[in-house]
Amino acid sequence: MKIGLLTSGGDAPGMNAAIRAVVRTALYYGMEVFGIERGFAGLIEDKMQPMNMRSVSEIINRGGTMLRTARCCEMLDKEGRKKAASVLEKRGIEGLVVIGGDGSFRGAKSLTEEFGVSTIGIPGTIDNDLEYTDYTLGFDTAVNTNINIVNMLRDTMNSHERISVVEVMGRSCGDIALFTGIASGAEIIIVPEIRYDMEDVVMRIDRSRKSGKHSNIIVVAEGACSAEEFASQLKESTDYAVRTTTIGHIQRGGSPTMADRMLAAQFGNKAIRLLKEKTGSRAVGIKRNKIIDMDIIEAVEMKKRFNYELYETLQMISM
Ligand code: ATP
Repeated sequence: MKIGLLTSGGDAPGMNAAIRAVVRTALYYGMEVFGIERGFAGLIEDKMQPMNMRSVSEIINRGGTMLRTARCCEMLDKEGRKKAASVLEKRGIEGLVVIGGDGSFRGAKSLTEEFGVSTIGIPGTIDNDLEYTDYTLGFDTAVNTNINIVNMLRDTMNSHERISVVEVMGRSCGDIALFTGIASGAEIIIVPEIRYDMEDVVMRIDRSRKSGKHSNIIVVAEGACSAEEFASQLKESTDYAVRTTTIGHIQRGGSPTMADRMLAAQFGNKAIRLLKEKTGSRAVGIKRNKIIDMDIIEAVEMKKRFNYELYETLQMISM
């Protein structure tokens, strides 16, 4: 059996470890694996190389993706998707593993629906914005990166009695801000899912200062507003010194954590087992600590729900 493998959309730590797991499992089962460069763009241009055991040596610890990734507008048109499907057919590739976020899954879903290509989606995005899985690959590493940065900011903010507004990624999903906020002890988080009230923010800051706190950390999700925008609104309502930090692309790099490497190993392995069993197009994920798979079309259609319980937890314990 010949299979293709690509990484698409934004890169995420752990994608390399997943590539390794896919390739090694496929070779274990005697499959031929083609590594497709630059996501769907490379597929449409027929840019691919056969991979062997050594192609994936020494990448488990590296961020980014050795196959590189891209955003590909051609996939949004049926003509482009037809080209992608015809390249697979010409090469005799029977299954395609797509590592990426919800956009990449939509691409995979279209190839399944329109051309009957068997696709397996591995959720690789730091955003954690896919409802069918508790965690996506790269989320844990990104949040750990943020925790380290907030730790450092807290040292300096404490000395100067400042408020630190830290902007984190996540697109329209507040999970990175939520988990970073709870795990780093931030006093306030601002997420796209919940409208914020500046009076309430100032009240919480005043209360914490009165109880003896010397500094405050506010984590803002990029999908809610920018750190600069939030800080300027805050400065209109308070005299405290405010400083902003936008963590930016640092969140997408770095060596994957144990949690992400474990997910990568299991997702990659499961993806190939599913292709071998010819189960049709599936998305792999993790639910309540168990590796799961479900129909890729259903997985993409599920609407991401915000974890209000965790948000309330933060409200209660961060003061
Ligand atoms: P991340 O969330 O980390 O940025 P992503 O996979 O969601 O990752 P996108 O840029 O949304 O990133 O999508 C990646 C690629 O998937 C697009 O460049 C495009 O080639 C393809 N894609 C996205 N949406 C669709 C769609 N509706 N139909 C077909 N292909 C799509």
